[in-house]
Amino acid sequence: MAQISQITALVKAAAREAGFELAGIAPVRDFPELGHFPDWIASGHAGDMKYMEARDQNGSLKRASLKAAVPWARSVIVCAINYNTDQAYSTTFHDPDRGWISRYAWSREDYHEAVLRRLRMVEGRMRKGASTEYRASSTEQEIQTRCYVDTGPLVERVYAKYAGVGWIGKNTCILNQQQGSWLFLGVILSSLELEADVPAPDRCGSCTRCIDACPTDALIAPYQLDSRKCISYLTIEKRGTIPEQLREGMGRHLFGCDICQDVCPWNRKAPATSAPEFQPREGLVNPALDWLAEMTADEFRERFRGSPLRRAKRSGLRRNAVTAMGNSGNRDFLPLLEKLAADDDPLVAESARWAEKKLRTES
Ligand code: SF4
Ligand code: SF4
Repeated sequence: MAQISQITALVKAAAREAGFELAGIAPVRDFPELGHFPDWIASGHAGDMKYMEARDQNGSLKRASLKAAVPWARSVIVCAINYNTDQAYSTTFHDPDRGWISRYAWSREDYHEAVLRRLRMVEGRMRKGASTEYRASSTEQEIQTRCYVDTGPLVERVYAKYAGVGWIGKNTCILNQQQGSWLFLGVILSSLELEADVPAPDRCGSCTRCIDACPTDALIAPYQLDSRKCISYLTIEKRGTIPEQLREGMGRHLFGCDICQDVCPWNRKAPATSAPEFQPREGLVNPALDWLAEMTADEFRERFRGSPLRRAKRSGLRRNAVTAMGNSGNRDFLPLLEKLAADDDPLVAESARWAEKKLRTES
């Protein structure tokens, strides 16, 4: 249908104009990859991320079937924007006084807002264009659309694959041949059945670099992540104390982990973004551990206003910084750890006692 192909082309042009490097269309289907999602949840691999387990009134997992969760949706427009910057990768930083914050969290603006704003531009153009194409003044109301960044009832990366945006790598990230994997995804659900793209072929081949490099063995098999062991989960999502047996593997990671992307050959030539929102905030690339461990509530509020780092909360970030000190091998931290062992925050105090003991035992 000519109108549909025109609207499809318009959507893709609007995505490019809004700053997305990639955009594709997937039909709404119960794709085979989604069949593994209930097993992944049942095996506990989502850890404490209860939002992943949202269920409908029949008790079915919402993310397992968009068809059931949003019956009016016919297409998913998947847009991807590159957040890579020209700073070196985590695997090249070795200063024991400093730690690592995941690349995506350096941004000046929280990516949810930056991506959503761009999605809304695409959505607006599409609704307007659809209304014109159909030459029916009421169409704008009839077409249903909804934008999501991480919060929709779908597994975004599965739809990204079927929209041709990239393949799902063995590290479970979306990978694109030209852009690599430093991509934020945003989706627009549409009641219009747009022209679907061809799924992206898997180009991991015999490579296993990400699995071999993962310090906590969180990639339990190709394409399978046990979040409970993943440093990203432990440093961002995990509340309370981190199981002792997992602390050493966290190294000096403070918020997230980039290792399985840093080692991926498809990221070697990944371009850097020019989007101003994703340029690093001052001090977040390889920050000093003592700065974060001693951060006051006022400084946390001030420095991280509108930053993804807020998700870990001040207590979690300080816990992570103190744990990283324990893994640093740097005995210069001992006086500070002794002080923090009596911190008002029991989470920080417990982590400091563990870190102090570890540094003393190692010497
Ligand atoms: S993010 Fe880090 S801990 Fe998680 S799977 Fe990748 S390498 Fe492993
Ligand atoms: S490191 Fe290798 S196996 Fe892992 S995602 Fe990249 S290409 Fe695939």
